Amino acid sequence: MIAAGAVVALLAALAVVKTFEQRLPAWAVRIGLAVFVIGPLAGLAWAMWALWQRALEPVDLVLLVVFSVITGLGTSFGYHRLLTHRSFQTTRWITVAALAAGAMAVPSRPIDWAARHLEHHAHADQDGDPHSPVDGLVHAHVGWLFSVTPAKRDRYCRRLMRDPVVMLVDRTAVLWLALGLVVPALIDGWRGLLWGGIVRIAVHNHSMFAVNSICHAFGSQPFETGDESRNNRLIAIMAFGEGWHNNHHAFPSMADHGMGSKPDATGMLIRGLERVGLVWDVRRPSPAAIARHRRQREHRPPKIGVIADSQPEGAD
Ligand SMILES: [Zn+2]
Ligand SMILES: [Zn+2]
Repeated sequence: MIAAGAVVALLAALAVVKTFEQRLPAWAVRIGLAVFVIGPLAGLAWAMWALWQRALEPVDLVLLVVFSVITGLGTSFGYHRLLTHRSFQTTRWITVAALAAGAMAVPSRPIDWAARHLEHHAHADQDGDPHSPVDGLVHAHVGWLFSVTPAKRDRYCRRLMRDPVVMLVDRTAVLWLALGLVVPALIDGWRGLLWGGIVRIAVHNHSMFAVNSICHAFGSQPFETGDESRNNRLIAIMAFGEGWHNNHHAFPSMADHGMGSKPDATGMLIRGLERVGLVWDVRRPSPAAIARHRRQREHRPPKIGVIADSQPEGAD
């Protein structure tokens, strides 16, 4: 009963999150978002307790790892580098698969995600940035979700809205999200749902939220970008290379955020697929552009009063 109630509540919240922008009053949206944010965290706490009770079978660990990798790369490879920044070209089938995997991971349709992310790049750490830690670290991490401003699809994503492949996944995003919960549940019941679905969503979402919060507050800044973006090795490992965020702000359309020398799982996948001909037109900055953007001085004081660099320059 508890399991069924939790699943129904989570799915209801997800449906609210997916459709809120035009149709629901703000209080309903906030309740839906609260369930979505708190639900996976409660699942994580439950999973910890369950682990303590030895209720973790090897199959659950496999579900957690496999679904984390597939859906995590769906966000970084599909939503971010392919869809939003056009860092490379690939086949239609890989596009559909990558965006569907991304929809399994995050409570956002692909075009909404791209629009909000492009808005972030356009106003990074200035007025208009939807999630800057200049407005508070908690706001940047999760609070901004509750501001309930519709994604500016028309302003930032007209090109994407004309693409039938992208629109197909955009319209069916909630189904993919549900599938990411149903499949592990079918494989190992409640435990499968807990580890392959709920815990996986909690870990992944907060890793990606950390790119918005931690990676604009703690870490190194090898490039001059005019914002607070930083490289953070821990977040890079947890978020499939997305933590090399200062590199990314310096060269937004660059495919390999690790720039060949830092661990970047998404960059490795792109290079591997390029080698076998499934990815092409991979965008890389020229050595001259890299030299031009490189920060001259070792350090710049952070704009955020209470937050200091946690890593010395070059630590990455
Ligand atoms: Zn950023
Ligand atoms: Zn980006």
